[in-house]
Amino acid sequence: MAITEKINNTTVPTFWEGEIPVRYVYTYGLAGEKFFRAVKDKGTFLGTRCEDCDITFVPPKIYCDRCFNKLDKYIDVGITGYVETFTITFHNMDGSEKKVPRVLAMIRIGDTDGGIIHYLDESIDYEQIAIGMPVKAVLKPKGQRKGSIEDIVGFKAV
Ligand SMILES: [Zn+2]
Repeated sequence: MAITEKINNTTVPTFWEGEIPVRYVYTYGLAGEKFFRAVKDKGTFLGTRCEDCDITFVPPKIYCDRCFNKLDKYIDVGITGYVETFTITFHNMDGSEKKVPRVLAMIRIGDTDGGIIHYLDESIDYEQIAIGMPVKAVLKPKGQRKGSIEDIVGFKAV
């Protein structure tokens, strides 16, 4: 199908075979770098706070998105939190059934206004998971951390 071809019947799927080479470089930005450096070196999470708006951002931001204050004071917010919301996946991308369901959750960190989306530990019985459940991040051993989201193995129940 040529890119200029007009689609008159939207119920008939169209496609073309081929490959699209995609390369990208994703940077963490100033706040993201500090966040992942703290995970790697100190085993903790950082946030930034806007006193004017009474908001603590996790992951940290360099500007408050409400009042545009510059935020340059980073605070240690710890690695514990609670399940804000979650979803359970029972199938793999190819449609096959997972041996163990995986739970992806939004974890509200401490008493901040932000959080991290990550997996819950597979040892948690997915039928017992509830909004408000307290959890704690499981990090890779310090020597194995590289300063990325993969330094966080997941969250376990506490
Ligand atoms: Zn603000």
